[in-house]
Amino acid sequence: MILVLGVLIVVALILVLQPWKRRECRWRQDTRKLADGRVLFTCVACGAETALPKGREPRYCLAGEK
Ligand SMILES: [Zn+2]
Repeated sequence: MILVLGVLIVVALILVLQPWKRRECRWRQDTRKLADGRVLFTCVACGAETALPKGREPRYCLAGEK
């Protein structure tokens, strides 16, 4: 029973963290490019760009989604 519980916890962690989406991304906030209240973030490592509402930061690399 403990083994089943352990497996469930591991699966849940993998689904939440989504390690395949995590790369060595270093997001830099570009305050010069403010558009309709959102902040543009640029990844220093791969050059990906994304705009998010103020107060939020991208959690993973978006380069593979374009
Ligand atoms: Zn990146």
